[in-house]
Amino acid sequence: MLKWHELSKDLFLVKEQSKRVNRLNSLIIQNEGPINPVLIDANYPFDFIDDLYSKIKSAKMLLFSHGHLDHTGHGFYHQEHYNTPLFCPKQEIDYLIDLETLMERVGFSRLELKDTYLMMVKDFMKFQECKEVNSFIPGKDVFEFNSFLIETIHIPGHSPGQTAFKISSKYEGFRKILFVADIGSHPYYGDQNSDITQYRESIDKLEKIYYEDDYILVPAHGNYYINKDPDFFNRIRRKIDNNKKKVLSALTEKKPFSLRELVQKRLITPENRIVEPIKDLYYLWDGGMIYQHLQELISEGLVKEIEKGSFLSNRYILN
Ligand SMILES: [Zn+2]
Repeated sequence: MLKWHELSKDLFLVKEQSKRVNRLNSLIIQNEGPINPVLIDANYPFDFIDDLYSKIKSAKMLLFSHGHLDHTGHGFYHQEHYNTPLFCPKQEIDYLIDLETLMERVGFSRLELKDTYLMMVKDFMKFQECKEVNSFIPGKDVFEFNSFLIETIHIPGHSPGQTAFKISSKYEGFRKILFVADIGSHPYYGDQNSDITQYRESIDKLEKIYYEDDYILVPAHGNYYINKDPDFFNRIRRKIDNNKKKVLSALTEKKPFSLRELVQKRLITPENRIVEPIKDLYYLWDGGMIYQHLQELISEGLVKEIEKGSFLSNRYILN
């Protein structure tokens, strides 16, 4: 079952009622009545997608905030079964049409995690590559419809092309929506093309926009905020700074630790949240985030790196 909440006139937050992890706060914008709406990050299990189209018949387009597969993995199903045109930020369009390139760019290939990742995306996520994906340029392209305007805001750091959407309407009394994608309560910046400095800048950018006007704030996962939440962005900053503190306090002056060993200390994801068949993927997910903090700490003069030649075997010591 999909649960529909009308956030503002003709604009719905549509969420699957399931126990799946990474469930999304998808948006559905009814531009021309109940059929043929615009979809944003509508990534659901197949039977939920069928249920959706039994109501909407067709969709004008499916817009992706970025290429990570928890947002896009079933894009192919929208395309093949319902002819829905797909739109992805231009920086990540190859994630959807060529899994090999995704694994290169995100880092699974370099860290020799391809087999585990392939098992996860094929067996668990049931991902298939899309035949054709349209691109948009975040920060530049605007989608204009009869009653709605969707502006794109480039918020890199989590991924290179990540995009927030600012949705407004001609309707009187319409409350604007700020969809901030994966800038949210579980900040992630561990891909090999993530960038913590850009992530922090994207938080600042969105916070400024959020304070300039009245918005309903919708992250892609977790809670959403009808009333202005003055602490939302600070909570994310505190989580990031807390991760940084954990990395710093795991290091010593005498004994250097490799990045591999730091991942095994479970500084970021606690042991009880890690499931066995994909355990090794945390060398990328947690390893990448620890690595980003180590780079910050090195540039602040607090940590030194001892080269051993590879991402996971380089060792770190307090300066
Ligand atoms: Zn993501």
